[in-house]
Amino acid sequence: VAARLRSSGLLRTKGLIGGKWRDAYDGRTIEVHNPADGEVIASVPFMGGRETKDAISSAYNALSHWRKLTAADRSSRLRNWYNLLFEHKEELGQLITLEQGKPLREAIGEVVYSAKFIEFFAEEAKRVYGDIIPSPLSDRRLFVLKEPVGVVGAITPWNFPLAMISRKAGPALACGCTVIIKPSELTPLTALAAAELALQSGIPPGVLNVVMGDAPSIGDSLQESTEVRKITFTGSTGVGKKLMAGASDTVKKVSLELGGNAPCIIFDDADLEAAVKGSLSTKFHNTGQQCVCTNRVLVQEGIYEKFINAYSKAVQNLKVGNGLSEGVTQGPLINDAAVQKVDSFVQDAISKGAKVLLGGKRHSLGFSFYEPTIIGDVSNEMLIARQEVFGPVAPIIRFKTEEEAIQIANDTDSGLAAYVFTNSIQRSWRVSEALEYGMVGVNEGSISTEVAPFGGFKQSGLGREGSKYGMDDYLEIKYVCMGNM
Ligand code: ADP
Repeated sequence: VAARLRSSGLLRTKGLIGGKWRDAYDGRTIEVHNPADGEVIASVPFMGGRETKDAISSAYNALSHWRKLTAADRSSRLRNWYNLLFEHKEELGQLITLEQGKPLREAIGEVVYSAKFIEFFAEEAKRVYGDIIPSPLSDRRLFVLKEPVGVVGAITPWNFPLAMISRKAGPALACGCTVIIKPSELTPLTALAAAELALQSGIPPGVLNVVMGDAPSIGDSLQESTEVRKITFTGSTGVGKKLMAGASDTVKKVSLELGGNAPCIIFDDADLEAAVKGSLSTKFHNTGQQCVCTNRVLVQEGIYEKFINAYSKAVQNLKVGNGLSEGVTQGPLINDAAVQKVDSFVQDAISKGAKVLLGGKRHSLGFSFYEPTIIGDVSNEMLIARQEVFGPVAPIIRFKTEEEAIQIANDTDSGLAAYVFTNSIQRSWRVSEALEYGMVGVNEGSISTEVAPFGGFKQSGLGREGSKYGMDDYLEIKYVCMGNM
């Protein structure tokens, strides 16, 4: 597969700064591994502060030209990028599976999902409207203009190596911003392939740059720069808080997509089939490595036994293996540290009285494979219910009343996604309104789309990605008052 990718020109192994493929100044590199078999796929430069400063200069220099292009021009270049991403969905999907591990079908799905963000924001680029405000004084005219915020630093994680980039780069470029992308060192190859396609699509040199390596140094350089006007980040809550604090020195804008602790509430009056299908996809998609993944399955006592039986059967049907193999639905976790964390959460729950109903240990395939797992008798005090497990483990919490379910669901500092299964219209409204979450899926486990706002309440983040609201994070509002008319 790697050879095929190389021949397609999409296996890029250098950073992109000012339209040039670059090594680190000191020649250091970092290996990229396939989590399914531990093999080294490629090495990429281990960059730091110096290279980041170069990337910032390139992005800053490119800004004046890019922001002055007509919206239609930026739009058509983004549209080209969308077309190229779509045309190369197979190769990009293979690259995602190779470095991230997810099943190829899911990986190609991610490419399509990512490309659609670029298409959507190519369209939105043409709709950055201002306002004319009726003046309280007759000799004045008042206007509101929308302008790009400027140079954007975009720091992204490994779980969706392409989507997390397109959700940020799409609106940023559409608004006329230039970008420095810092992908995860675990999955830089997809980012570099996407950047290659961006160059091919007529996005000028310097408008989109990619650096990777020493994450804290790169992060610090982005933070310290007065030319970088915004940081957009998806990743862990801890790093997000650090970046938010760091941004205060230069008063940068910040958008954060941080961790979740999604409850999936199955009420007695739910459609069992829909509840099993929905809760399965929201828990096990990407082997549970998604911030909107269900972290706690809350099941009402009247449907508890029936649900557990049907859910267990569905989970047993999941096929674990190398994401490139036919029929596999569960890839490996990203690395061994992830497996250790998942297992420590499971052990903590067991030690506090939870029962393993299925799985509960490393998979016989070795490497970073973990068995799809269900644990029952979980309480909201256990580690697994307090923090994101980020793995294929479904902890089941039993509840009696709607009030109790809402109380448990909201008893967390996170507030990203929540899911509700019920056939009552009244209850679906009541519960959706009571949940302190940025996104609610009612009778549906797969809710993310480029046309809807993605983002969280509480410590799950700031700002929204996708939809018309996704543009706001990259725009400044300028008020112009014309006097003496
Ligand atoms: P995850 O648990 O998803 O790996 P992280 O927050 O560790 O979440 O990583 C998300 C992104 O943040 C990655 O690109 C990572 O390299 C980057 N990152 C990690 N630490 C820092 C830091 N101190 N400053 C800037 N970026 C960082």
